[in-house]
Amino acid sequence: MQKLPNPAPYGGRRSWAQIRYIVLHGAAEGSIPPGTSVHYLVDGECVQRCVPVRFAAWHCGTRGTYFHPYCRNTSSIGIALCTRRQAGRETLPPSTARRAQALVRALMVRYGIPPENVLRHYDVTHKTCPVPMVERAADWAAFHVALDGRKNAESGQLSAGSSGESGASSSDADRPNRINRNGVR
Ligand SMILES: [Zn+2]
Repeated sequence: MQKLPNPAPYGGRRSWAQIRYIVLHGAAEGSIPPGTSVHYLVDGECVQRCVPVRFAAWHCGTRGTYFHPYCRNTSSIGIALCTRRQAGRETLPPSTARRAQALVRALMVRYGIPPENVLRHYDVTHKTCPVPMVERAADWAAFHVALDGRKNAESGQLSAGSSGESGASSSDADRPNRINRNGVR
C-alpha cells in the first residue's frame, strides 16, 4: 500500500453498497483540520489518495445537528479541494475545480452515485465548507451542473452507464480512471 501523505484517523471497513454520497470540502493551504481525514485531496497539480474508499473517513461528522437525513461518514466519499487566498477571499483555482470534477465524475460512475448525491460539507452540517462554494452559490451551481450528464452533453459518456474507460480519450477522463484502477478497490 502506498504511504499516506498525511496520516490521519479513519474508520472501519464498509461495503461497496454503503457508499452513496460524495462530500466536497475546502482545504485552505492544502490542510484539513486535525483529527479529520478525507479520501482524496485535490489541487491544481494532482489528486492525492489519502484514505482507501473502502474505509470510512472522518470528514462530515458532527456532534451537532445533521441537515441531511442520510449522508454520513459511513455512507460518503470525502474530497478536499485545495483553496487559495486571493485578494482577501478564499478561492478555488479553475485547474483544481476541473480536476475535482473529473475525479467526482469517475467516482459517480464507479459507485453509481447520482448527481443529486454530490454534496458540499455545508449541505450535511451547515459548516461553511468549502468556503468558496458556500460564499458564492453560483460557483457551486456551476460546478455541480457540469457533473450532470442529463444537463451537460460533455459528461454524457460518463453518466450514460459506460465504465468511462472505453471511450475515455481526454486527459481529464483518463486521470481519475488511472487513479481508480490503481487505488480504489
Ligand atoms: Zn469540510
